[in-house]
Formats: sequence, C-alpha cells, structure tokens
Amino acid sequence: MNIVGLPALVGTYDNYIWVIHNEKEAWVVDPGESEQIIEFLNNNQLVLKAILITHQHFDHVDGVEALKEHCPNCTVYGPEKSNHPTIQVKCKENDSVQLNERFSLKVLDTPGHTKDHIAYYNDEALFCGDTLFTAGCGRILGGSVEEFSSSILKLRQLPDTLGFYCAHEYTNTNLAFAKLAEPENIQLQQRIDKTDIHYPAIHQGPQSTLGEEKLTNPFLRFDTPALKAELIKRGASNSASSLFAELRSWKDQFDKSH
Ligand SMILES: [Zn+2]
Repeated sequence: MNIVGLPALVGTYDNYIWVIHNEKEAWVVDPGESEQIIEFLNNNQLVLKAILITHQHFDHVDGVEALKEHCPNCTVYGPEKSNHPTIQVKCKENDSVQLNERFSLKVLDTPGHTKDHIAYYNDEALFCGDTLFTAGCGRILGGSVEEFSSSILKLRQLPDTLGFYCAHEYTNTNLAFAKLAEPENIQLQQRIDKTDIHYPAIHQGPQSTLGEEKLTNPFLRFDTPALKAELIKRGASNSASSLFAELRSWKDQFDKSH
C-alpha cells in the first residue's frame, strides 16, 4: 500500500487528506475537500473504495458528498458517536475496517478534541486525525481533559514503528512550542534541525513515526520528569488530566501570541 497526503484548505486550516492506495483501489481519510482527491484518483486510474472519517468537523467531512457522487459505491466509515448524515458504517473501539482481503484498520476511541473522535491503525500506520499532531495535539473543542489525556495515553501504548499520519500540517509552530516546553530534550533539537517542511506539496508516506513522537512531542510526554516538574510549577497537580490540561492551556496561550 502507498499512502500520500493531499494538501487541503491550504492557508486556512492546512489539512492533509490521506489517500491509501494500491495500483487499482483507494481509500481516503478525512476528506475536507474533494477536487484534489478526484483529480488524484483520475490521474492514477484509481477506484475509491471507502472514506474513513475520524470526527465530523467540516475540514474532515466537507468533501464526502462530492466524492460519493464521483464514486457512488464507496462506503463511508465514521465514529459511532458522530451524527453526520453521510456516515454509513459506524465504528467504535476494537472494530475492524476491512479495506481489502489483505489490508485492514482497527479502530480506537480517542475522544478529547471532540466527543466523537476515533483513530484508525494497523501494524504499519496510525491515522490519528486531530487527536495528535506532529509535535503537538488538537485543541479541546467538545471533549474533556480527562478524555483527551486518556486517549493520548492509549495511543502511546501502540508500537513505536507505526507511521504517523495526522490531519494537519502544523509541525513548525508545534516544534517551536515543544522547544519552549522541553528546552533540554536533545532528540527534540535533532528533530528541529532536520525538519524541512514543503507544505502544500503532496506528502509521500508518513510525517513521522509514533516512536519519534513519543521522544519529541510534549503532548506524549507530559508525565516525563522535566516537563512534569515545569507543569507542576505552573499549577498542575500530579494527575495525567491536570498535567495535560496545563500543557494544553500553555500551548493555547503560545498560539495566541504567534
Ligand atoms: Zn477537528
């Protein structure tokens, strides 16, 4: 399987729509737009088999209707807790989405960004939508800090080798905040030194690995000693949800000033 990221809502939300494909068939994750997908399908003579939705924000679903018109036989998968009218198959924790005879994705409930959010993963790839970003995480837009921190800890249990595919290109600002949060993290500095973003070009393959995120993404590291001490100094208590909440609100303040 090949996986490419098509830029969408460029200049406003800077999304990636991930297209999983072989020589004939394609599956699309979080289509907030449709034109670039239809063009990609046509250029590569691909039949769209399914659409996978992580949550029902418009920048993840607004392309679904036009794609259904283009490929009426494709199936739309989405969260059980979402009420978006285009979703045909509702998914929850431990469900399996069979993409073809050899390739399937498992579902994890990852509420926090929203109540309905789910992630899809298998032995090679993690599609985490707006739960985690490269070196960052989504904002709290409907879920709770308790939900969000436990979703992140759940994702942290998955193998380091997984290719990391999130729904937005926010790497540069996220790395700037990560450096502020963890100034002594050597792996983070190495990541900053090698990071070279070319958005809005088509992205080939994963943005990073879950292992790299575990080493450098502060939102996967709020309970590591140095960052935890800083968050407690800023007012957090010892619990995962409080540490996460403090880090998230620190990032919200950072975003306002950048
Ligand atoms: Zn969202």
